[in-house]
Amino acid sequence: MRTRRPAPDDGLLLRLRGVTCRYDHDPVLDHVDLDIGPDQFTGIVGPSGSGKTTLLKVLLGTMAVRDGEVRRAPDLRIGYVPQVETVDWNFPVTVSQCVLMARTRGRVVPWPSATERRDTAAVLERLGLGGFADRHIRQLSGGQQQRVFVARALMGDPQLLVMDEPTSGVDATTRHDVLHLLDDLNRAGTAIVLTTHDLNGIASHLPHLVCLNTTVIAAGTPQDVLTTDVLERTFGARMDVLEHAGMPIVIDRHTHLHHRVLPLRKSAS
Ligand code: ADP
Ligand code: MG
Repeated sequence: MRTRRPAPDDGLLLRLRGVTCRYDHDPVLDHVDLDIGPDQFTGIVGPSGSGKTTLLKVLLGTMAVRDGEVRRAPDLRIGYVPQVETVDWNFPVTVSQCVLMARTRGRVVPWPSATERRDTAAVLERLGLGGFADRHIRQLSGGQQQRVFVARALMGDPQLLVMDEPTSGVDATTRHDVLHLLDDLNRAGTAIVLTTHDLNGIASHLPHLVCLNTTVIAAGTPQDVLTTDVLERTFGARMDVLEHAGMPIVIDRHTHLHHRVLPLRKSAS
């Protein structure tokens, strides 16, 4: 990967140009351009298999880029919030231990320092989890678990918060709470990039969307990009779009079709 020092004056946290990635034969990302500014709140929208998680890995620096350029602000601090469903809940850990692991490389520390205790308490308080510090994480609701992972990501004082499908598998109330929390964090100065395939529940509420299907199909406000034409090119299915109170509402009759049609891969044997 070619990672260059940023130009001193564009102020971006991350700048991708012509980024191409593959796991094996076919590109999973193909000539992707993306700018992430310091106060941006961006949703990456696309069907299953369209490259959303891979693009997050490029932002995090954990995915090798085959071609193109990734430019990162010097000493950029990124907080990563994993998908709640992918976490192993059998691991015995309390809320405060889980948050503190951000400082201890994933180890449970029996006797945290005064600073660690203070910072953990402060971030839990900030996210409305003050009363939950000693609860086992399994005892929390999906939305509260999501908050714990946001709290853990905030321990590193990130300039950019990256979240993969933050509200998949949670109910509408939780989704609403998570969106409000993220909006508050963004207003307080943290840039946010999240992925979602939830067009009406999440995407239409965000200020900026990037429609992805291997490459960037369109980018702009929900009003700009949630159109029948862009959605058809992104999801491979026709969807009608209505407007309600100035917000687009996507009428989706083909949920079962929302998978990228994969080219046949040659087996490597
Ligand atoms: P999304 O998050 O939009 O569902 P992904 O970025 O996870 O998409 O995956 C994009 C494509 O890359 C899919 O075709 C997927 O099967 C493939 N892929 C993802 N991870 C790997 C991997 N570790 N090895 C091989 N192929 C992968
Ligand atoms: Mg994914």
